[in-house]
Amino acid sequence: MFKSTWLVLMVVLAFSTIGFAGSSTMKALIIDGQNNHDWKATTPILKALLEQTGLFSVEVITSPPKGADFSSFKPEFSNYRLVVSNFNGEPWPEEVQKRFEAYVSSGGGFVVYHAADNAFPNWKEFNEIIGLGGWEGRNEKSGPYVRYRENRFVFENSPGSAGHHGRQHEFKIIVRDSNHPIMKGLPIEWLHAQDELYDRMRGPAKYTEFLATAYSDPQTGGSGEHEPVLLTVKYGKGRVFHTMLGHGPEAMRCVGFIATLQRGAEWAATGNVTQKLPADFPSVDKHSIRQ
Ligand code: ZN
Repeated sequence: MFKSTWLVLMVVLAFSTIGFAGSSTMKALIIDGQNNHDWKATTPILKALLEQTGLFSVEVITSPPKGADFSSFKPEFSNYRLVVSNFNGEPWPEEVQKRFEAYVSSGGGFVVYHAADNAFPNWKEFNEIIGLGGWEGRNEKSGPYVRYRENRFVFENSPGSAGHHGRQHEFKIIVRDSNHPIMKGLPIEWLHAQDELYDRMRGPAKYTEFLATAYSDPQTGGSGEHEPVLLTVKYGKGRVFHTMLGHGPEAMRCVGFIATLQRGAEWAATGNVTQKLPADFPSVDKHSIRQ
């Protein structure tokens, strides 16, 4: 009698634990496998940062290498609340592209991270989903340059290539939409640790909100413009967070990168941000790096 009661109790406890774990975290998927960046080093960091929030349980799907058969590459996007792209490589099979478009437009969350915005210059819907992209032959046909001048964002259609960066350095991030849930409560300006600062990005920028910019200084090889570095896109019912930051493991230790990635991921998945501003967030004159 005692044994069977104990057994029932154990079973109930096991099920409630599984149920609790299942309802308290959202499933997220990171896609990697091809990138001109060190995806083998950065994916584990992205995974750890997302899981650190306590909001996500993260799986990774790694595509076949360049030139290999993609017929087995079938991410089940609809099983996830959040998809994160750390992929910059060959076009996905058309069927995968269509399922990805359907996933986002029907309300899926998506984070496009750093060089993942270089991918797929000719995939029209992907470029609408990410708002701005660079390199890989992008030019005026890809959409306008978007810069912040005299208190507003300016869309410029002049001809020219898309995507560039000067040498890595520390730079100041300036919040341009402090009411957005991702940015609410963050300082208006902070010093970002040494990183690449993308400039001359172009794209359809159709359903885009620009959250933050950084001045791309000609002295470090930049454009002389205030360039967008954090943005969101609403695509159908889906929410997209685009961070151009975090070139590699060193830059990903910047608390500004970490907090905006974590907050952007939560917003993309739910439309809200419940995370508090970390105590070690950088200030305007001092960067902050986690060991
Ligand atoms: Zn980079």
